Amino acid sequence: MITAGCTLLALSVMPRHANAATIVAVRTWPADEYTRVTLEMDSDLKAEHFMLQNPFRLVVDIDGLRLNAGINRLISQIKPNDPYIRSVRVGQNRPDVVRLVFDLKQDVAPQVFTLKPIGEYKYRLVLDLYPKVAQDPLMALLKDAQNDPLAGILESLAQNSPSEAPVPSVQGQELPPRAKQPPPVALSPKPGLPKRQDRPVLIALDPGHGGEDPGATGRRGTHEKDIVLQIAKRLKKMIDAQPNMRAYLTRDRDYFVPLNVRVQKARRVQADLFISIHADAWIKPSARGSSVWALSEHGATSSAARWLAKKENDADLIGGVNLGAHNAQVAKVLLDLSTGAQISDSINVGTRVLREIGKINRLHKNHIERAGFAVLKAPDIPSILVETAFISNPEEESLLRTPAHQQKIAQAVLSGVQDYFAANPALARRA
Ligand SMILES: [Zn+2]
Repeated sequence: MITAGCTLLALSVMPRHANAATIVAVRTWPADEYTRVTLEMDSDLKAEHFMLQNPFRLVVDIDGLRLNAGINRLISQIKPNDPYIRSVRVGQNRPDVVRLVFDLKQDVAPQVFTLKPIGEYKYRLVLDLYPKVAQDPLMALLKDAQNDPLAGILESLAQNSPSEAPVPSVQGQELPPRAKQPPPVALSPKPGLPKRQDRPVLIALDPGHGGEDPGATGRRGTHEKDIVLQIAKRLKKMIDAQPNMRAYLTRDRDYFVPLNVRVQKARRVQADLFISIHADAWIKPSARGSSVWALSEHGATSSAARWLAKKENDADLIGGVNLGAHNAQVAKVLLDLSTGAQISDSINVGTRVLREIGKINRLHKNHIERAGFAVLKAPDIPSILVETAFISNPEEESLLRTPAHQQKIAQAVLSGVQDYFAANPALARRA
């Protein structure tokens, strides 16, 4: 610890102005939940920020930077449909300070933080623009359910849902967006909630990765994050077409969602089942086949399993989260509450899903596997992770890109889930 602290100190007193930093890349990820702007550069830069009102503006001063073509690319990257940013202006404020002024469409609670190099990325300065009042996953579900005959039931669920802030929300920048958590022990329904029998079975679909985190990439350049979103959307459509089922997406476009926020969202909408959708990768292009995973509390079922879980859990490092002590603590509480019942239900549903997928694709292993995936740690929701195929296998990459095959995967997952609820009607009514 002491050594690390000294290293950090040494870096921060190094002359900043010796070499002007270079912007390597600029990326923007607009989404309703939050808009992210990433400046990637070849050295670690200090940034300060403040808000201005009438009209709302976010001002970011980056120390050690000179105006160049790289930073000017930012201007053209702001999309007209960005929910938060109207436009951006860039100027040399002082000799070594570049000032960015974001003209905003609404007030925001910004989070500005830096990330050390990881994976393909060099140093990143991240600007996350959250709304003042964080989006409530339940409200998003409701909006989605318009014209839905079951909307009334969902609506009463939302109205009766306690406003004691189980919503990921941001109050000022010092609190990370996921600082407020669902109460970890809310295993029984609040009084006043409609009985679960009255509402459809709700499946949380979790397309892995997104935004800054592309996931695995195939030889033809196919990104896992894109494929799994397409499959999840197909599956959502199929589930919503069932009379007694509804689906909720933890992300519905290309932006990054931290792993524990995915879990929180599923708990907020009181999902009966959580399905994370991924595509596998291995160094050897010959590796192939689908696999289904459940949580393991005590180590992975094999060294390959451990490797895979680490790779998927690294999503937060690649995607980039603003780590706070409080957040780490809550994550630990969630972990500690994981129950044997959750895991045995997960193995039950996972086995059925695996059996159905085995009818449309080769299986990597003919049984469900287990490892410590962070995204499967909702203590009260059966949770599985589906590795649909190997995106690193050229043949399977081609399949994954095909709408017909995506449809087959979605249908297989749905069949497995239906099988599970048919065989275990009580599990659709966990309360
Ligand atoms: Zn993945």
